[in-house]
Amino acid sequence: MKFNYKRLFFNNPVRSIVQVFFAVSFIVLVLSIWGFAGTHNLCPWAVIEVPILMLRHGSGLFFVWGILIGLLGIISTFIYPRIFCGWICPLGTLFDFLGNIGQKLHISSKRIPHWLNEKMRIFSYGVLLLIVLATIVKGSLVCQIACPAFWICAVWKIYIPIATAIILLLWLALSLRVKRGFCRYICPYGALLGTFAPISHYAVVRNLEVCNNCNLCNLSCPMGIDITQELVVKSAHCIGCGDCIKSCQRNGLEWASRKSAKNLELSN
Ligand code: SF4
Ligand code: SF4
Ligand code: SF4
Repeated sequence: MKFNYKRLFFNNPVRSIVQVFFAVSFIVLVLSIWGFAGTHNLCPWAVIEVPILMLRHGSGLFFVWGILIGLLGIISTFIYPRIFCGWICPLGTLFDFLGNIGQKLHISSKRIPHWLNEKMRIFSYGVLLLIVLATIVKGSLVCQIACPAFWICAVWKIYIPIATAIILLLWLALSLRVKRGFCRYICPYGALLGTFAPISHYAVVRNLEVCNNCNLCNLSCPMGIDITQELVVKSAHCIGCGDCIKSCQRNGLEWASRKSAKNLELSN
């Protein structure tokens, strides 16, 4: 069956509207209220770094909104896998957009083998570990050195060091070439959420009775998950976007509780 790119672009209009709403709110809050450094106020990475800095310096709580958003992202993952990444994070929205452009310009890579796609997630855990260690050693917000959100907001105001500019271009190029490449293999907060995603209450479940293995769901998945190999999507990459469900023309996919899906798995 021929893949319909137009359908993919407008595949999930509700998600697009929600994403644009949060992206615009983020830009307005950061640029009009806090200034470029305000990205820290809304960044969920705070949940990784701030507690370390508080312990190290004995200082009080700061970047409270960032910590709250970080915690909410974790809590929501216990209900739907990484729903923060799929619906709210403005960077995720930017990377969805870049991924679509890459596809339109025919510069996106051929699909990465699923086993490799899953294995390469280990890089994001490496970044997470590196950030934790560097924060302990340096005692400052080290993640800002290579944080796309911070520098995209700051680029109009301050000089970007060459090394940082190169890293940022690398992140953007990666996301043009591989849909959500940054989210899949680099983002430390995505790595943290991915730890809980496989145990979220709801998961995408495939109905084997109607599925004809047409592969449309796999082609629509921004995280490159092999949905057709499973009855229940267990991948830590799943960002709860629901694009696969929308793309299936046979209503072969739905959100269901993992518990009921497990019973289904056992009975198959
Ligand atoms: S993986 Fe990171 S950058 Fe991507 S959507 Fe999630 S929090 Fe945002
Ligand atoms: S779940 Fe739907 S989209 Fe996916 S392979 Fe089966 S029929 Fe095709
Ligand atoms: S499996 Fe479905 S819900 Fe999960 S990331 Fe892929 S398209 Fe989105």
